[in-house]
Amino acid sequence: MKYDKNNVFHKIIHGELRAKTVLDGEHFMAFHDIAPKAPVHVLIIPKGNYVDYNDFSEHASDAEILDFNRAISKVVRMMRLENGFKMISNAGKFGMPGDERGQEVMHMHVHILGKPSDE
Ligand code: AMP
Repeated sequence: MKYDKNNVFHKIIHGELRAKTVLDGEHFMAFHDIAPKAPVHVLIIPKGNYVDYNDFSEHASDAEILDFNRAISKVVRMMRLENGFKMISNAGKFGMPGDERGQEVMHMHVHILGKPSDE
């Protein structure tokens, strides 16, 4: 699938839309989901134009992949999720059997969901 720049996360990266930013790195951004499904619900996105995780892992540079993966542990520490969290990345429109909700925003992202360790 070809990347379409007309998506909300592309607008957030390029300053056309505001997000509640958690972390802003060279190759990634992390911000709070606008409709949180858990006490902590943070999205981590690469700044490059990748449609989904598969596109990212196939085409991103080593530096982008490293920076993105390190961002996960930084967010986990910042949000105090050391006791556990769930990480989800939807790819494609069709979801999976039993849960047909697919990817809504066609810019690669992972959801980090959990509850702070001191709550
Ligand atoms: P997905 O179904 O994996 O594509 O999830 C997209 C997520 O993006 C959903 O959880 C939305 O609540 C979230 N979302 C959509 N627009 C925004 C926005 N402007 N700022 C933050 N999160 C958003």
